[in-house]
Amino acid sequence: AAPRVARSTAEYRVLDAAHHLHPFSDMGTLNRTGSRVITRAEGVYLWDSEGHKIIDGMAGLWCVNVGHARKELAEAAYRQMLELPFYNTFFKTTHPPVIELSALLAEVTPPGFNHFFYCNSGSEGNDTVLRIVYQYWLVKGQPSKKYVISRTNGYHGSTIAGASLGGMGYMHEQMPSKVEHIVHIDQPYWYGNGGDLSPEAFSLNCARQLEAKILELGAENVAAFIGEPFQGAGGVIFPASTYWPEIERICRKYDILLCADEVIGGFGRTGEWFSHEYFGFQPDLLTMAKGLTSGYVPMGAVGLQDHVAAAIIENGEFNHGLTYSGHPVAAAVAVANLRLLREGGIVERVKTDIGPYFQKTLRAALADSPLVGDIAGTGLVAGIQLAQYKGDAQGLGRQRFANGGEVGTICRDFCFENDLVMRATGDRMLLSPPFVITHEEVDELVGKARRAID
Ligand code: PLP
Repeated sequence: AAPRVARSTAEYRVLDAAHHLHPFSDMGTLNRTGSRVITRAEGVYLWDSEGHKIIDGMAGLWCVNVGHARKELAEAAYRQMLELPFYNTFFKTTHPPVIELSALLAEVTPPGFNHFFYCNSGSEGNDTVLRIVYQYWLVKGQPSKKYVISRTNGYHGSTIAGASLGGMGYMHEQMPSKVEHIVHIDQPYWYGNGGDLSPEAFSLNCARQLEAKILELGAENVAAFIGEPFQGAGGVIFPASTYWPEIERICRKYDILLCADEVIGGFGRTGEWFSHEYFGFQPDLLTMAKGLTSGYVPMGAVGLQDHVAAAIIENGEFNHGLTYSGHPVAAAVAVANLRLLREGGIVERVKTDIGPYFQKTLRAALADSPLVGDIAGTGLVAGIQLAQYKGDAQGLGRQRFANGGEVGTICRDFCFENDLVMRATGDRMLLSPPFVITHEEVDELVGKARRAID
């Protein structure tokens, strides 16, 4: 169908350049080349203002899990806007959609998650995690527990606290200082870093860095450890199976809260409802966003294990909140989304059908590519490492081509010009398609990815 556009593409580009600072964008380059104007989306496809049909290999930004343009979600938002769009609804009062949502979340999250705090994004979710962690240890009479340990190359958002928790050096460089008492250990990225060690032994060593850091700081000063069960924005880095059980053991031994950032991994991306279930560990706090509403409207949430919730509740006033905490429209959309994911069998299909098909097809298509090293992932998420030659464990890294671009960025831009959305991090190409993708669409996606890499 023809896209609905009110202005010419050229006009849109002029106005776009005149008025916007785009997130995570080089504005000079973007303004010279002109932004692509995306006007419509349906299922796994996007259309631009010139009528090009683009396959969305990233589900937007890892979030449009039920696919684009679902009537169920649009109708839920419409109905809720007419019923109760907003009031000071959640500060000391409540409302039906958010109650339905929490009852559903208590069912789809693992046992012990019965309390939820709502916000608008993953970044705000991780800010909230910090507040809960500090409050928890105050209530427990251990105010010296202040340090939060995170990992290099982790991504936890772009607010000051989110970026401080994150391990992206380029984000820290823009800040005069990080939030105090946040320290990082190495990420468990074996490929190119593991030397002679097996992935299992390497991951175990990385996990034990946590113990060394706790001993260095003193367990009485360490409040929490936070990590993405698999690192998403960092390149889809999957630790070996030895990693998380060891992290969990160390956190329990030294009485440290274990926080899982499930902003990307939550709501079925790995085929499990939450990616920490895939890795087999039990966090105390759970950050959620993106897939909670399939990105249709902004919403984030933090899940608290019962013992954490009890400590916060017994202390009286919790001095944290956002105007739109538990927003009725976002909550109504999240309920419709979770029902689709569960009753519509969409998460189940990632586990039993489309996830395995995607992994098998992708790996088969890239098996003889001389430019592909590591392929990581499960379910509907994958990271593909670009190498200089087969077996090149160092990869192309952040090596620059003669024209000044990074290898992943060049590949990503080439994909987009050829109507395929992939993301890039250094030398890794990333895929995370909507869960409703069909077998034929997987074939198309993977075929385009192979041609782009070639
Ligand atoms: N945590 C993780 C693991 C993420 O991947 C992201 C965003 O990509 C965030 C937090 C931040 O979420 P938001 O961009 O909604 O603030």
